[in-house]
Amino acid sequence: MYSLNAELKSFSQIVKEFVMALGQSRTYNLRKNWYCFFGILWGIPVPIVTISVDLYASQLNPTTSNIIQIIITHPFHIFFILHPLLFGIVFGAMGTVRHNKEQRIRELNRLKSNFLSMVSHELRTPLTTILGYITYLKTEKAGSLNQAQKDCLIISEEEAELLNHLIEELLDLSKIETGQFKVNLEGVNLSGVISKAISSLKLLAQKQEVTLENDIPENLPLVLADKERILQVVVNLIENGIKFNRRGGKVSIYASNHSQDNKLLFSVSDTGIGIPEDKLEKIFDTFYQVDSSRKRRYGGCGLGLAISKTILKLHHGAIWAESKIGAGSKFTFELIKYDNQTPT
Ligand code: ADP
Repeated sequence: MYSLNAELKSFSQIVKEFVMALGQSRTYNLRKNWYCFFGILWGIPVPIVTISVDLYASQLNPTTSNIIQIIITHPFHIFFILHPLLFGIVFGAMGTVRHNKEQRIRELNRLKSNFLSMVSHELRTPLTTILGYITYLKTEKAGSLNQAQKDCLIISEEEAELLNHLIEELLDLSKIETGQFKVNLEGVNLSGVISKAISSLKLLAQKQEVTLENDIPENLPLVLADKERILQVVVNLIENGIKFNRRGGKVSIYASNHSQDNKLLFSVSDTGIGIPEDKLEKIFDTFYQVDSSRKRRYGGCGLGLAISKTILKLHHGAIWAESKIGAGSKFTFELIKYDNQTPT
């Protein structure tokens, strides 16, 4: 019953949108609305076929006077002659409905981006103050702290950092959506970037009892990259490798350099829970998480990989995942070698 109601509602909505489109000038504008033009083309064969059939049945030659005579004797032909016009109007209205819908979606996206950027900025300012005070209190310049107070501060700092990370990701997303997300490409040796990522995650790995293994050689060829943005990708991949791992597990980072190729591949593999085969593409969508239940054990909001994918796209590179449930996952991204750089 409910579904029938819903169907009727959506049908009446379609009819309403169609009728409203009939009242809009765009529906009849051949230049702005190609649907209308297409409708006219679609309708042209109708009178041609009907009149031809009638001429053939009456054994008349297709001359102008015979055609006029047929139309006068069978006035229903006027209805067929009007078909290109009717089709033009119906198709034109469909084009207007589509245009209106696209405009609504664009407007919603704009509102969403504005909202995202406004909320993130408003959250960021007080959070920076909170983090500043936590750091200040930890120096004990405002008075010495006992162990319980220090522990409270450490937890507060960790949680505030998590929130900060989330806000950074939301800000990146709003930049991506408004086309303001940019990269600054130059020749970079990624071994330094990867070492930096590893040292920033050492503590987290220790806490989760996960070993980090860096197999990146020092003398890598340079790649065309934005250091900060690629650092963001590598941190995200290693962090996920730690987060979705088991105690005693391992995360390894290595590079493959095929000298005949103009690309360098970097892989982050882990011995964690793995990802189902049919989710390997979806995990790169915004806000997608394999386990999104409320009982979910892992932090995050499903933006890291989507942002990483955009970053790699802006590098003319790519990122992909391979995985086996229960055995672990491997994320690989490719970057162009600096000597063979392509125009950016
Ligand atoms: P987040 O980690 O913040 O949820 P990401 O975009 O980084 O967001 O990852 C999206 C989802 O992909 C994760 O929620 C998780 O379900 C899955 N995922 C990512 N990396 C791994 C990994 N190394 N092992 C298992 N699952 C992973």
